[in-house]
Amino acid sequence: MDILVINSGSSSIKFQLINMHNKKVLCKGLLERIGIADGIFNYESHDGKDKIKETRDIPNHRVGIKMILDVIQDPKAGVIKSLDEIEGVGHRIVHGGEKINTSVLLTEANIKLIEECIPLAPLHNPPNLMGVEAVKSELPNVPHVGVFDTAFHATMPEESYIYGLNYEYYEKHRIRRFGFHGTSHQYVAEKGADILGIPRDQFNCVTCHMGNGVSFTAVKNGKSFDTSLGYGTMCGIPMGTRAGDLDPAILLHMLDNLKMSTKDVHNQIYNNSGLKGMSGLSNDMRDVQKAAAEGNKRAELALEVFAHAAKKYIGAFSTLMGGTLHAIIFTAGIGENDIATRERICNGLEVLGARIDKKKNDIRGEEKIVSTDDSRVKIMVIPTNEELMIALETHRVAEESH
Ligand code: AMP
Repeated sequence: MDILVINSGSSSIKFQLINMHNKKVLCKGLLERIGIADGIFNYESHDGKDKIKETRDIPNHRVGIKMILDVIQDPKAGVIKSLDEIEGVGHRIVHGGEKINTSVLLTEANIKLIEECIPLAPLHNPPNLMGVEAVKSELPNVPHVGVFDTAFHATMPEESYIYGLNYEYYEKHRIRRFGFHGTSHQYVAEKGADILGIPRDQFNCVTCHMGNGVSFTAVKNGKSFDTSLGYGTMCGIPMGTRAGDLDPAILLHMLDNLKMSTKDVHNQIYNNSGLKGMSGLSNDMRDVQKAAAEGNKRAELALEVFAHAAKKYIGAFSTLMGGTLHAIIFTAGIGENDIATRERICNGLEVLGARIDKKKNDIRGEEKIVSTDDSRVKIMVIPTNEELMIALETHRVAEESH
């Protein structure tokens, strides 16, 4: 049986259909510019034989979902004979707040809880829910499961999620660390444990998700123990366009003395900082690397700041394991592909017992141990697979609910 995975954004829907017997992707696609002129419909079957890329009018999510369900059972381009082959639908949902701490069936009551989290993720939860509603109306008789970016971090202890603020802000306003990219951290941590033959519930590692968004997690005994993103998605290591950790005094200075509006400050720290702001060039790590190699000083500085922050978080998180650190795992666009950044970050980690092997590290997008044979802590590259993790979770929750 197959699981349909849906990642619904405000103007886009990403999807994959996954066969749960062999965990293979049957087909995948991306609909863009939903509700805007010149919508784009992308579809590809597993063997790459059937590819569709065309401009279509996609006025809303419901129409988009209908297009997806039509193409996957289309006699020519499709990969299934009928929608009866779909055993369940997994929906990526960004925020589950404090009340949802695992993947759940999308019952009326749980959908209400997700709606209550809209103030925490105003840009993400509403379009996620639009996708849920649209697919549920087309496939009302299969289980729909929500898989949350925040859920993996629900195991963090109080000392990780409480800020040094007056406790009232937690009690009254639930201001705390939530953490994100949970599906990715969980996937690579479980995979890392399996590769090293260590029981998942005894595995200690630091997972380094480095894409356009960046977050690191201290995984202790297979569970999230601390993570670098917080109440929102702007802190921790500098990202493509986000600043990462900032002294709050800077924000007050921008507001009070530089007379910037809240909107301007938000725009600066969210859209114009990080690699883009520091280099003055681009949020894309490839561009920054290229410029640094050509002698651009600010690009070189951006790379150094990025690696310095990454190193600092790995060091800090290593001290939280209460025992052996087994591995440091790199994933997502930069983590999987950027050989030079991995090397820059790992330089100096010998102090933790982690030694990178330059030759082994010369890979992109492969699952591989890239530390030296005598490295006590393994350094690993594991391509993330959030869609498969969502499918596995959907399958598990659907089975348990029978
Ligand atoms: P993601 O958000 O996971 O898609 O990752 C996007 C980031 O990965 C961007 O900063 C890209 O520049 C970076 N990236 C992708 N491929 C490479 C590569 N070959 N070398 C360096 N960075 C890369």
